[in-house]
Amino acid sequence: MPDQLPPSPISPTIDLDAEGKQHGFLRLPYSRDDSAWGSVMIPICVVRNGKGPTALFTGGNHGDEYEGPVALFDLARTLEAKEVSGTVIIVPAFNYPAFRVATRTSPIDKGNLNRSFPGKPDGTVTQKIADFFQRNLLPRADLVIDIHSGGKTLDFVPFCAAHVLPDKAQEKKAFDGVAAFAAPYSMRMIEIDTVGMYDTAAEEMGKVFITTELGGGGTARASTVAVAKRGVRNALKHAGILSGAPDKAPTQWLDMPSGDCFHFSEADGLIETMVDLGAPVQAGQVLARIHPTSRTDLPAQEIKAKMSGILAARHFPGLVQMGDCAAVIAVLVD
Ligand code: ZN
Repeated sequence: MPDQLPPSPISPTIDLDAEGKQHGFLRLPYSRDDSAWGSVMIPICVVRNGKGPTALFTGGNHGDEYEGPVALFDLARTLEAKEVSGTVIIVPAFNYPAFRVATRTSPIDKGNLNRSFPGKPDGTVTQKIADFFQRNLLPRADLVIDIHSGGKTLDFVPFCAAHVLPDKAQEKKAFDGVAAFAAPYSMRMIEIDTVGMYDTAAEEMGKVFITTELGGGGTARASTVAVAKRGVRNALKHAGILSGAPDKAPTQWLDMPSGDCFHFSEADGLIETMVDLGAPVQAGQVLARIHPTSRTDLPAQEIKAKMSGILAARHFPGLVQMGDCAAVIAVLVD
């Protein structure tokens, strides 16, 4: 239980409970060759105005995903305390060491922050970041929004998502938040591997948790950044933290009905994408061909759709390794 754990080594440089707008850091001591008494300095902004709900925003949980950091550094600069009823906590680059070097996982300990919860106060740098959020920031939040994209190796149709949950009241609040976010697509999402996820940590605490996949390829597009910027303000309006109704935009609901959504490559090679993102697919249709690259007389392997729907995600780089997620199909919901 939390009481038996040592305190987090992370210290905020701002008072998280002060009124008004504050910019600072979550400072994590990190002694190393080039800085004996050095620190990891994770930027944080807290905007607080009186009583009301608390929203906790994160981007850069994976360090090579950019819509979240772009929208949240912008939100931190532009949001004013007088606009807010309640509290907004903004951490644009959650796994800051990974974000600094544009990699999915941390260059310090190879930690995948989104597989590191609940974390450890006496663990690796990544585990210490997870532990601070688990015990110090998540408990403060009513609404938790973690903005992801595909990173360097995946590309997605832009969607906001929540998970099917055992607590149906909690699930409904999350899907109402997804609707308010108003991304072009809204997903009932399943995960390949939920152990250690920030999502799961927040949901198990009873929080309203929503996430996104807004694009990918290790960059951000004008259109997907616009979705993120509108979405974060819409979420704040939906929560009553900002005044006014969320800006409406058309959304297509999608479902991931089973693990058959995911299609993995069973060979190394050169990937030939046969279907573009968002296009309709029929069960049995060839989604991609994997060309062997060692010689010219070997046949390509075909990856065939296990269900009908649309192509919601695909492998982004031109070369693929055995076991890579090559394609994800989602089903249109009326
Ligand atoms: Zn991610």
